[in-house]
Amino acid sequence: MYGVYISFPFCRQKCTYCNFASGVFTAELQSAYLLALHEEILVSEKPTFDTLYLGGGTPSLLSASELAALVVALENQSIREFTVEAAPGDLTREKAEAWAKIGVNRVSFGVQSFNQKVAGSSGRKHTAATVVEEVTLLRSAGIDRINVDLIAGLAWQTPETWAAEFEWIERLALRHVSVYMLESDDDSRLGAELRKGGSRYGASAVPAEEQIADSYLYAVERLRGLGIHRYEISNFASLGHESVHNRKYWTLQPYVGFGADAHSFDGARRWSNFAEPAEYVGRMKAGQTTRATDEVIDDGRRTEDLLMTGLRTREGVTLPIASLSKFENRIATLKGLGWLEQPAPDRLRLTDTGVMYSNEALEQLIF
Ligand code: SF4
Repeated sequence: MYGVYISFPFCRQKCTYCNFASGVFTAELQSAYLLALHEEILVSEKPTFDTLYLGGGTPSLLSASELAALVVALENQSIREFTVEAAPGDLTREKAEAWAKIGVNRVSFGVQSFNQKVAGSSGRKHTAATVVEEVTLLRSAGIDRINVDLIAGLAWQTPETWAAEFEWIERLALRHVSVYMLESDDDSRLGAELRKGGSRYGASAVPAEEQIADSYLYAVERLRGLGIHRYEISNFASLGHESVHNRKYWTLQPYVGFGADAHSFDGARRWSNFAEPAEYVGRMKAGQTTRATDEVIDDGRRTEDLLMTGLRTREGVTLPIASLSKFENRIATLKGLGWLEQPAPDRLRLTDTGVMYSNEALEQLIF
């Protein structure tokens, strides 16, 4: 079964660490984008799918009727998992109830930190009380599959503030948490400031890399103690609460994406839309293709993709032994570093240390 992804790249503020093609745009562009998105969905051949993920950006900015109209355009009757990404501060009782009515059964909250000063350093304006209130609203409306995103490495974070994040996770009895380590890409404002050693955006208060790594390891242990286990590098869940949609990406199941910067994969080809919302809208209006990339996935590429995505998961990846032979020397090197293990001749997975160096490990293995 396919998964469907819809991209809504509009936000209330541009977070300092964010390097997505999302941000604050005009109301006119947002209206034009929604029209273009509808058009793209309506004219596309829609596969049978069982998961729907509305990401961004901040799709919780959409009104309930705008969201409902997108679902209607998809013409699908049985969605097993319907996730909406939300920013704390956007939810009301009416919106939560309307979401439940149209089938939303999972919400992923971009909390990043329950600590107001730490969250505020990135541009987020919520408090812990906002998150508690909105989790309660969702549960009262019958939506109880709730994820909270946390970022290890935000400015002003200390081991104490980090430990307090997990007290909130415990208090709220959450069953799914995503933990990301701050990445200082040049194309985010914070990343560029860090690179040049400046102090804007709290750059001089960003913890050292060792503290960020320790925070991640702390999260693994603390969440394990709460019965929430790592099932992918950044994703932790109690048994049965894992994201069905995201698993499709890691196991190379097919998915189709609509909207700016949306990616699709049908088993044989992979393609993506133009990332800039204005370009996407302009192309839709002009009747031009919205595809920025389109490539055929041959067997060699498929093996690389399976390694890239499958190794992110706790169980690792199983591949024909013949396909792995091409990587024999690199596998040996990574095993020697203690980053990779091979529980069976056809199976590979990252060790706990390898997870800490996952970017380097995957790069060495594949490139
Ligand atoms: S992190 Fe999320 S909310 Fe913040 S700018 Fe990026 S997409 Fe928008």
